[in-house]
Amino acid sequence: MPAFASLGLSAELTRAVAEQGYSQPTPIQAQAIPVILAGHDVLAGAQTGTGKTAGFTLPLLQRLMNAPAAPGQRRVRALILTPTRELAAQVEESVRIYGQHLPIASTLIYGGVNIKPQIDALRRGVDLLVATPGRLLDHARQKTVSLADVEILVLDEADRMLDMGFIHDIRRVLALLPARRQNLLFSATFSNDIRQLADGLLHAPVHIEVARRNAESELVAQRVHPVDAWRKRDLLAHLVATDDWRQVLVFTRMKSGANRLSEYLCKAGIEATAIHGNKSQPARTRALAGFKAGTVRVLVATDIAARGLDIEELPHVVNFELPNVPEDYVHRIGRTGRAGSSGEAISLVSQEENSLLAAIEKLLGKRIERRIVDGFEPGLASPPTVETQKTVPGPRQGNRRDGSGPNATARARGQSVATARPNPPPATSRTAPQTASASPRPSGRARGTEATAPLPAVFLAPVRRGG
Ligand code: AMP
Repeated sequence: MPAFASLGLSAELTRAVAEQGYSQPTPIQAQAIPVILAGHDVLAGAQTGTGKTAGFTLPLLQRLMNAPAAPGQRRVRALILTPTRELAAQVEESVRIYGQHLPIASTLIYGGVNIKPQIDALRRGVDLLVATPGRLLDHARQKTVSLADVEILVLDEADRMLDMGFIHDIRRVLALLPARRQNLLFSATFSNDIRQLADGLLHAPVHIEVARRNAESELVAQRVHPVDAWRKRDLLAHLVATDDWRQVLVFTRMKSGANRLSEYLCKAGIEATAIHGNKSQPARTRALAGFKAGTVRVLVATDIAARGLDIEELPHVVNFELPNVPEDYVHRIGRTGRAGSSGEAISLVSQEENSLLAAIEKLLGKRIERRIVDGFEPGLASPPTVETQKTVPGPRQGNRRDGSGPNATARARGQSVATARPNPPPATSRTAPQTASASPRPSGRARGTEATAPLPAVFLAPVRRGG
């Protein structure tokens, strides 16, 4: 695989790429970048997780820089259309990241939000616009945007745009563009409708096809373990230990959460390291080397930190917290089950995250199996309080799943309980009902108590000191 620098990108762009920690272009990038730089139309078969966004964003920025706009004369010269606002936001963020050393102005346009700030941004002058079709047409009707100077058009996830019924909007947008322009069409699938759209849009396109990278591959077994937020870390430690996971990439949303979780796992005798933007490059490199070599069993990362990590084909990826953006779920689990090896993507989902889970399932177009782990039933036990911390239930203590046990009354009163259950069942997994059971629990305490809850007995030894 060629290096980024040999693909024809400027020093500013290769620097931005290096700052993301990317060492090698992905296959789609290696193929698409030179072709786009040469000015060809492209028909690319690539899905989320392949690195396609950088595959078109980098050469697009380069082409804009090859003929920069005169100061004070910015016009929309590149237009990227996406099916959803989430994808639009992600793509525009990529534009900002890769274009951070370039004098290029981009903005984001999508519906469902106040149009006024978008009008203001357009008025200030924009070189590159990322938009969803409907709101873009609203602007065109109000004459708050001109598309008469567009030199490059990208249709990202064109198949999803058609699935979502945007074909007429797309055609209306195309009618507003100058006839002479470069067109790039990215799609994960090629239905007849896509081919028809491509035939009418692209001129002598170069076809690029890269293998599926991720997720929706049958090789990745996806599973949700419904669990109370405050018990997630115990459940994670339990799964790592009982299922004897050797190499697990765990995603958290926040850096602080990544740190706390890795410290907790270390105290439970599981070698873990957090990797995130606040860590120095040598520290990140060390953590990654340890993970690859098997001395670090669990690598805890935030989405941003994981972006540049050169690790894939992992046996286990765990979503300790679901991402806010459903596409990130696909990126995350795309790290496992690649190139013929099978993998497991496991999400620990608390009741508060059910709407995020629903959005992910909508994106995937399928339901993910729920499985409650015995002893970790949602609502089974109350979060520990200061008084009960010393006797907080481990995985096998607490109340009955139906909420009718002896603790239910105490919970209803908002009290903490720490009642041991005699003769607990073995800790095995089983399929859960349709939705996570959700007994009431006192709210607002889960996170606050997370850092101080003692370990479940099963993990008290061996303990690595000072970890
Ligand atoms: P995409 O398919 O564009 O949604 O990108 C998937 C993920 O791959 C994103 O998190 C990117 O930040 C990351 N990525 C893009 N290019 C590279 C690269 N050359 N090396 C490593 N990661 C990359």
